[in-house]
Amino acid sequence: MQIEPISNTVLMQAALQIDLVPCLVDNYAYLLHDSASGVTGVVDPSAAGPVIDALNKRGLSLTYILNTHHHWDHTGGNAELKKKYNAKVVGPRADEERIPGIDLALRDGQIWMFGEQEMQVLDTPGHTRGHVSFYFKQSKAVFTGDTLFSIGCGRLFEGSPEQMWMSLSKLAGLPDDTLVYCGHEYTLSNAKFAITVEPENKRLKSRFEQVKELRQKGLATIPSTLGEEKETNPFLRPFSAGLRKTMKVPADASDIQAFAAVRAAKDRA
Ligand SMILES: [Zn+2]
Repeated sequence: MQIEPISNTVLMQAALQIDLVPCLVDNYAYLLHDSASGVTGVVDPSAAGPVIDALNKRGLSLTYILNTHHHWDHTGGNAELKKKYNAKVVGPRADEERIPGIDLALRDGQIWMFGEQEMQVLDTPGHTRGHVSFYFKQSKAVFTGDTLFSIGCGRLFEGSPEQMWMSLSKLAGLPDDTLVYCGHEYTLSNAKFAITVEPENKRLKSRFEQVKELRQKGLATIPSTLGEEKETNPFLRPFSAGLRKTMKVPADASDIQAFAAVRAAKDRA
């Protein structure tokens, strides 16, 4: 898939304001606010209640609901929020029939204006067949749902290892300083697994310590940066010699084969 270039004509534009909204047990929804236009959105509202509270706290109304994929813990708040705020639901064209209340179905590579912020839709299937990620280039932020987690990746419910590897590779092609906002707080358990896959990875070891400290204080580990993920996330590192050694993947195997071996090991963990 082609990623269309995003023009660089907007000077000194205020970055998108992003608030984490914890939902259910370990889900994150995200409140997005573009101060220039006043447009406000929420990514993946599991439930309406916590999102309404977050909007009230900031004195905001809701313009858009953005869904990365159809799972109930990412769309459960759609109906109530849509009704309360007359918000428009935006989601993947590849899965529009499964997104509750969808108004606007966006295709892969499409650029859409969220207020004055350019947002690019990236098809990232594998977890579900119609999963998308939302990329805000000027604000250096990507919302990856259940495709790329911090130090992990989503389960392959409806896709193949090859599809997921293509999706992760697409995300890994974004700039290293891109902030990664994923759908769940799974980082600590992901790190525990990652350490078993790449025990010699020094950057991973120090990140594991950071993550433990944050979680002990009850703090979120999100966002991470794409650069950090590329250094520590085993699902972005199937080429690593250390990983292949532990996973008993031959040096001449493809990255897809190595990725599939890591994904299968995580499923058994
Ligand atoms: Zn999901």
